[in-house]
Amino acid sequence: MLERIKSLAEASADLLAEWRHDFHAHPELSFEEIETTARIRARLEEMGYSGMRVGAAGIPTGLVVDLNPEKTGPCFALRADIDALPMQELGNPPYKSQRNGVMHACGHDSHITMVLGAAKILKALESELPGRVRFIFQPSEESPHRSGAKAMIEEGVLEGVDAISGLHVWGTIPSGVIGVHAGPFMAAADEWECTIFGKGGHGAVPHLAADPIVAAGAVIGALQTIVSREIDPLETVVVTCGHMEAGSTFNIIPDRAFLQGTVRTFNPDVRSEMPRRMERICSGISQALGCRAEFHLKNVLPATVNDKAFTEEAAEVARKVLGPEKVIEIPPSMGAEDMSYYLQKVPGTFMFFGTKNEEKGIVNPQHHPEYDVDDEILPKGSALLAALAWNFLSGKAS
Ligand SMILES: [Zn+2]
Ligand SMILES: [Zn+2]
Repeated sequence: MLERIKSLAEASADLLAEWRHDFHAHPELSFEEIETTARIRARLEEMGYSGMRVGAAGIPTGLVVDLNPEKTGPCFALRADIDALPMQELGNPPYKSQRNGVMHACGHDSHITMVLGAAKILKALESELPGRVRFIFQPSEESPHRSGAKAMIEEGVLEGVDAISGLHVWGTIPSGVIGVHAGPFMAAADEWECTIFGKGGHGAVPHLAADPIVAAGAVIGALQTIVSREIDPLETVVVTCGHMEAGSTFNIIPDRAFLQGTVRTFNPDVRSEMPRRMERICSGISQALGCRAEFHLKNVLPATVNDKAFTEEAAEVARKVLGPEKVIEIPPSMGAEDMSYYLQKVPGTFMFFGTKNEEKGIVNPQHHPEYDVDDEILPKGSALLAALAWNFLSGKAS
């Protein structure tokens, strides 16, 4: 079966490149993927699919379709995110973005294509599949505050699903190599804000003011002691202050300073303690310096946790499909992904698929204005996803 899957994939290589270029040329932002959804639908209809469910969060973007909807038995889901980024493409491929200021710089054009490729392969094997496959084309991955995964799950996209997989292309891994990791794989991402209120005044008479900028400086430094002095050194935490704003000119002490940043964690217990620890430092230090702080932390995305047994089996399938030397164990990433929401509900695995090809000049990481994907990976990724579906369904059915 795996040989059949591989040859079906290779036979579609040119078509897959064509599809990817079409998606790349017509990128759309999060929850605006109307045309993208229509293009996905058209490709699926050409393959003979019907019964597409379009829309998520009350917006007609994103699409779900089942292969073998009438069959009983296990159901395996494949997920692709479909949105692009608000940035200008600076590379010059023949399929360059036709939309000013919008670009598929995260490779989601290739995610759509690889899942469509898997849908095409599995459609050819439909009658032999001992179960159902659900293809999830998810909007809005790049806007984590409005997660498309969360919206689709709330609308029931995982009902009846037994396991799930997905890929993210990765610019630093060699082309065609798949990176796997069992357990916590991508971090939980939260967002914090702190406003420090002082007392404004003239820059020449600081004793008549309460300077929130000095307090903000002390707070920024002290927040790092949470990682270095408060958390078990064997845990992984990042506290970043990425945004600060205060004041208007050189000789005025402003009345407030604003800080904003992100916190990354893997362990849910460590994560849940972070607001209390940060609040204590922000308030305590501000108060010691004659100011007052208001602190808020907003949970954005949970950690992406790959099921151990599923991941080990997926790696075995990948070794058979791509070759044993093309499967590597990779460390977790402090980046975050809304694939996490699916993996909270059903077991599965999320993997990084390398796109770096120096000979072709494809060397940039995602979100780079000249990011591109090596088209050679498309049939390989499609074959891998189809093989994961086949392996899961046949294992469950036997
Ligand atoms: Zn991205
Ligand atoms: Zn992405």
